[in-house]
Amino acid sequence: KPKTGQVTDPVKSATMIEITDIQNYSVPERRQVFDSTVSETVSKIIRRVTEGGDRALKEITVEIDGISVEQLRVPQSALDKAFEALDYRTRTVFEQAADNIRTYHRRTALISWNFEHKGTRLGMKVTPIDRVGIYVPGGQAAYPSTVFMNIIPAQLAGVPEIAVFSPPGQNGLPNEYVMACCRMLNISEVYAAGGAQSVAAMAYGTEKIRPVYKICGPGNKYVAEAKKQVFGLVGIDSVAGPSEVTILHDDPDVRADIIAFDMMAQAEHDEDAKSVLITVNRETAEQVQQMLTARLPEMKRRKIIEASLMRHGKIIVCDRIEDGIELVNRTAPEHLEVLLKDEHKIDLIRNAGAIFIGKWSGVAIGDYYAGPNHTLPTERAAMYASPLSVADFQKKSSVIRYSEHLFKEHAESAAYFADKEKLFAHAQSLRQRLD
Ligand code: NAD
Repeated sequence: KPKTGQVTDPVKSATMIEITDIQNYSVPERRQVFDSTVSETVSKIIRRVTEGGDRALKEITVEIDGISVEQLRVPQSALDKAFEALDYRTRTVFEQAADNIRTYHRRTALISWNFEHKGTRLGMKVTPIDRVGIYVPGGQAAYPSTVFMNIIPAQLAGVPEIAVFSPPGQNGLPNEYVMACCRMLNISEVYAAGGAQSVAAMAYGTEKIRPVYKICGPGNKYVAEAKKQVFGLVGIDSVAGPSEVTILHDDPDVRADIIAFDMMAQAEHDEDAKSVLITVNRETAEQVQQMLTARLPEMKRRKIIEASLMRHGKIIVCDRIEDGIELVNRTAPEHLEVLLKDEHKIDLIRNAGAIFIGKWSGVAIGDYYAGPNHTLPTERAAMYASPLSVADFQKKSSVIRYSEHLFKEHAESAAYFADKEKLFAHAQSLRQRLD
């Protein structure tokens, strides 16, 4: 037993992750994460880019990333070279993933519609956004999957101009897979710039970079804060928080190791990632708890997984699966894995970003390959928000074409309404037509 104040080695501890009975579990408060230091740093960066343009963008990249970039715009030859360098297997896997994402997302587009009533036509006209900026993270790892998950929906929406921004590595260029995937999708406008400075460039433009109308794509806290600060001037997709999975389980046929590895997969994203198991089976709970401890040492990203599980991991035991479902609805997880004997119970689930049903549907297959988007609402945003889709790259205009007949029937009532709001010119503009 450790002495007071002595730090235990969590790997050896059998309670790296706690088991809690559902009646003792209280749902954490929703968090509005606000870090004033990050917020101030980001405002300064944005101001510098708006004042200093391309030169400031390059200077900040030297100061923060330690990289001197000669050309912000990645030359086409570098994109071609990255694509040509892909080996056969990598290229085939990337192409298949892109195909699956395309097939799924085609169904997520909004379509224009209209209807007629007494000769009047009312409708909704759907149009792609003219120009969007896609942020592809590149600090601690490279995310070619982010290229596909953002650019494919934008292309399906018909966005004519797509500019990609990703931080440069030592050679002054973005990650080679990121460049190769951009080239695979025929994207030629790619910039070697990351962080808040690239978000500022997207929103305000510089001498060489034309501003965009919407910024999409995940990133670290500086990127997320920058998106928040430029929102309004431009649109943004969402402000993503740390990744989360909840696994809802009552099926004894599912092995504990499958559950444990899915929890570790989520936990390896970062130390703030959250992995939760809700099960009716105490034996499974204990097996998963032991499995996590036993298999952790062999994991390559062990430190991150360990910290994430210790801080945010939970195993919750309930008597009735319906209570677990209610907890899911109150916590609205980004990813939900449903391992239930009776799959029909998913009808009771209202709040979750993506629902993975059955033991063959682990979150990681959706992260890369299945087709649905991996940009999902986090931090309980699934209470009101949805996965990224083609619709995020489209906008709607309402269309009104009145017939003379219906105008004459409606105009006096509308003018009366305007009178009530004391907007007399509004009323007059209608009555004028009746004259
Ligand atoms: P990143 O590209 O988001 O950030 C790197 C940039 O942050 C750097 O280029 C630098 O400009 C800036 N930066 C770093 N330290 C700074 C500081 N002290 N002050 C000011 N600016 C600073 O890459 P990352 O850091 O690896 O983070 C990527 C994030 O995106 C991870 O949290 C990852 O989990 C997340 N992600 C999410 C999804 C999703 O779909 N939800 C997909 C991929 C990645």
